[in-house]
Amino acid sequence: MSTPTKIYLDESEMPTRWYNVVADLPEPPPPPLHPGTHQPATGDDFAALFPKALIEQEMSAERYIDIPGDVLDVYRLWRPSPLFRAHRLEKLLDTPARIYYKYEGVSPAGSHKPNTAVPQVWYNAQEGIRKLTTETGAGQWGSALAFACAQFGLECEIWQVAASYRAKPYRRTMMEIWGGQVHPSPSDVTDYGKQLLAQDPDHPGSLGIAISEAVAEAVEDPTIRYALGSVLNHVLLHQTIIGEEALLQLAKVDETPDVLVGCTGGGSNFGGLAFPFLREKLAGKMNPTIRCVEPAACPTLTKGEYRYDFGDTAGLTPLMKMHTLGASFIPEPIHAGGLRYHGMAPLVSHIYELGLVEAISIPQIECFEGALQFARAEGIVPAPEPTHAIAAAVREAMACKESGEEKVILTALCGHGHLDLAAYETFLSGQMVDLDLPDSAIQEAMQNVPQIEG
Ligand SMILES: *Cc1c(COP(=O)(O)O)cnc(C)c1O
Repeated sequence: MSTPTKIYLDESEMPTRWYNVVADLPEPPPPPLHPGTHQPATGDDFAALFPKALIEQEMSAERYIDIPGDVLDVYRLWRPSPLFRAHRLEKLLDTPARIYYKYEGVSPAGSHKPNTAVPQVWYNAQEGIRKLTTETGAGQWGSALAFACAQFGLECEIWQVAASYRAKPYRRTMMEIWGGQVHPSPSDVTDYGKQLLAQDPDHPGSLGIAISEAVAEAVEDPTIRYALGSVLNHVLLHQTIIGEEALLQLAKVDETPDVLVGCTGGGSNFGGLAFPFLREKLAGKMNPTIRCVEPAACPTLTKGEYRYDFGDTAGLTPLMKMHTLGASFIPEPIHAGGLRYHGMAPLVSHIYELGLVEAISIPQIECFEGALQFARAEGIVPAPEPTHAIAAAVREAMACKESGEEKVILTALCGHGHLDLAAYETFLSGQMVDLDLPDSAIQEAMQNVPQIEG
């Protein structure tokens, strides 16, 4: 075995800039629109939600943005993260493919989310903000933000999707350890939450609803702002540290990927891994096939429409042009809670429309079958979300076995599943079912999407 199992970077080799893919795209992405006037949104339209520095990043076309020194200091708690060569999985699958995975589960919260939580909190702290509000689905983003707030002394208030609040009490405990205050969503704290609870006291909630509640709280007080863990340009920007490190690590072993696969919920770990490789591809330096993998029960790219929609269910956010299943769509309670979002990052949607990346959807049983093979070979128990990426990597590796091709496959193992064992229990006991999404459910939610030209 020529390649080592773990390819490390020294702290001194850690990239010090994030990469903004907008600078290299053949066409700029369509702008967000003001929800009332439907005119392109200005920085002011976001000012009640986000600090100036992040709004600038959101609208920036600069190719590189320096990572602040204080942020690099916190990154060093777990970065650079290791790149693994999956020798033992390759052996189990008996494939000639070479499989690499960038492991983001080494962060304090156990996923890639702190890569953006830390800078988001830092920029808010610079502008004197006292408290951040946010939503969380699987609990990964809430814990990442609570951790980051603890680093810089901000308060953190979190709306956790009710189904996950009930199913994953240890995620809540983790948020509370880092000082976060957690509500189930819908909650009795906001008017919108109260309305929904009056209709259904056992409402399972959704990310779109939890966003509405967190936004409603933030806009009422100028010392409070809101933070989003995925979807937006600045979030994907911060995550590019993943791909920048992976490029350096693969160069150390003289490899370039033929296929890159990543799971897409809102698109941030995917964009973070893929965009630096897309830059190299657009520059003609490599030619990987780049593929998004989404759940069959929430197939935003493969079955959603590309049009302007709200980021949240109550319609408080600016309108974004993205692949959407409709902001009122409540995804089935699949185990990959982090992939249960009605929309896809406008940047990932745009790049998909430009034909620069592909997309597939995979049902959850196949994902967990892949995850079990992975865990038994490589040892790490994946979070339910990256089981989609693993299943796609396994499909690709098995195709190589058929064809005899020695492809280099790269993926992100964007989080560990230590707090998701209930999902594994459901799978191991044979009770997991595939939840297919009827077209009628999509059509119904699409009827509520605003009609906007463009
Ligand atoms: C949040 C989360 C996701 C989904 O979000 P993306 O923005 O698509 O990355 C996927 N995996 C893990 C482990 C997460 O925490």
